Amino acid sequence: MVLKVNNDKCLRCGGCVSVCPQACIDLHEVKGIQINKLKCNSCGICVTFCPAKALVLKK
Ligand code: SF4
Ligand code: SF4
Repeated sequence: MVLKVNNDKCLRCGGCVSVCPQACIDLHEVKGIQINKLKCNSCGICVTFCPAKALVLKK
């Protein structure tokens, strides 16, 4: 599974950055959410947390 972000939906709340156990999400002021795919283990914690449903795990 690969984590995808929809930056149009993202509220820039920063919650996913805080909950990720791998510390692989960054919130950039201009570009929005950026995910380090090499570090992400597809645990889904950020997907469950996101209040905007801006993060999804896809095959
Ligand atoms: S938790 Fe969701 S809405 Fe909040 S910064 Fe992350 S992707 Fe955006
Ligand atoms: S799926 Fe897990 S490891 Fe990957 S970005 Fe989300 S919380 Fe972090």
